[in-house]
Amino acid sequence: HAKSAGRNNFQFFAAAMNKRVCEHLELENRLRQALARDELSLHYQPQYDLASGRLSGCEALMRWHNPVLGQVPPDKFIPIAEDSGLIVALGEWALGEACRQVMAWHAAGLPLLPVAVNVSAVQFRHADLAGQVARALRRSGLPAQLLELELTESVLAENLEQIGATLQRLKRLGVRLAMDDFGTGYSSLSYLKHFKLDTLKIDRSFVSDLPNGDDYAALTIAIIGMAHSLGMTCIAEGIETAAQHDFLRWHGCSHGQGYRLSRPLSAQALGELLQRSTAATAADAAAPRLST
Ligand code: C2E
Ligand code: MG
Ligand code: MG
Ligand code: MG
Repeated sequence: HAKSAGRNNFQFFAAAMNKRVCEHLELENRLRQALARDELSLHYQPQYDLASGRLSGCEALMRWHNPVLGQVPPDKFIPIAEDSGLIVALGEWALGEACRQVMAWHAAGLPLLPVAVNVSAVQFRHADLAGQVARALRRSGLPAQLLELELTESVLAENLEQIGATLQRLKRLGVRLAMDDFGTGYSSLSYLKHFKLDTLKIDRSFVSDLPNGDDYAALTIAIIGMAHSLGMTCIAEGIETAAQHDFLRWHGCSHGQGYRLSRPLSAQALGELLQRSTAATAADAAAPRLST
């Protein structure tokens, strides 16, 4: 009896496994066609200067809409793209598209907005990343200092000699480097200075517990202080509430991003936001100053 139950369990497990493998393969096969079929796009999440409340930049986030599967979230397709190596082509597309879009906004009379693009550890390992970045800049005409590459701590688990050489080439191009999801990986703080990273992004998991999670609050304050004393820009991710926003501003975090400030927007919607915020800034500058 026990034996047959075990066998049934195994069959159940095997069937479930099989289903997962099939789903994975289906996603991978459809993802393989996604670029050629024009199913990918970028959305842009605004980033703000917390002290002034001004728009300071944006982060490009990949979106995949497949006619059969519908909208597939990045947390589902990016890992598959990484395992299959497709991320090399997808990542190169994202770099080119983000640079092109900033110059398109600019050509429409809007100010040049800094843009951050996520880069996977696999792109460091397998691709001529610095070459791809150089091409994206050259083709679009985007000034290098307006492009920021967001790396995760997993990049630094790679062969450090090779990573160091690539990071140096990227710095020589003049692009900025950000550490994404800071605090979630196996990090050694010395790399922040060693690799001359420009920006530190405090992971959403810290921010989501503010202002009441005492340990997270203490850690967040320490991270803000460390980033600023290293001369780095500090961006808090995933700001969802007014209380979180106030806490971060109060503790001097220079920049922020999150649903409270804005969700990721289509290129069209971000263009409109840029237009409105430019008009507001101009009106602000023209208005007579009242002393308070
Ligand atoms: P990430 O780079 O840390 O991006 C931030 C994620 O948090 C985005 O999710 C964004 O929509 C979400 N987010 C922003 N504000 C809030 C908030 O207030 N609350 C909550 N709950 N979430 C917020 P998204 O777009 O689903 O992307 C997920 C992850 O997928 C990204 O995390 C990044 O690791 C990866 N990814 C997205 N686009 C690309 C890409 O072009 N290349 C690579 N390699 N990875 C990408
Ligand atoms: Mg990111
Ligand atoms: Mg992040
Ligand atoms: Mg993330």
